[in-house]
Amino acid sequence: MDHSRTRELIRDVPDFPKPGIVFKDITPVLADPVAFREVLDDLAAYVRTIEAQVVAGIESRGFIMGAPVAAACSLPFVPIRKQGKLPYATITEEYDLEYGTAAIEAHVDAVQPGQRVVIMDDLLATGGTAAASVRLMERLGARVCGLAFVVELGFLNGRAALPGLNIHTLVRYD
Ligand code: AMP
Repeated sequence: MDHSRTRELIRDVPDFPKPGIVFKDITPVLADPVAFREVLDDLAAYVRTIEAQVVAGIESRGFIMGAPVAAACSLPFVPIRKQGKLPYATITEEYDLEYGTAAIEAHVDAVQPGQRVVIMDDLLATGGTAAASVRLMERLGARVCGLAFVVELGFLNGRAALPGLNIHTLVRYD
């Protein structure tokens, strides 16, 4: 699928959230119904191709794509959230940030053993968040059959953090 419209809409915001980071702002894509529809259709086609049984979205921008794609594919949606947000019993995975660590969680009953899960987020950077999400799902016994992102920052080589996994991205920057 041609994503030139989406690529043109993604906005670079220099020095956000801190100096030296160029933030890829997808809000203009969300505000453009044609582009957003193209993004959702592409992601839904991928989810069907890999025969996923559950869509897991990473907080918070992974919810924006993951939930409508799950509904479009008539699949369950599962949130992967920052630590302390999920109300029921959880499991936790830590991952490294530039300085320090962060943690994400899923409910213990989010997926069933053996289920095929696709993990979704807006952007693949270093892959640390996605790799922690894979560990969470695998600890619950699920099989991660794919990961999908709207944007890939190819120069950060996030794919190296996700060896052997099927990865789908729509707009790549090298
Ligand atoms: P990483 O764990 O390094 O792959 O970072 C991925 C997460 O951080 C995703 O949830 C992204 O939303 C966010 N992120 C990292 N870098 C950027 C960036 N340059 N622009 C927008 N979001 C980013």
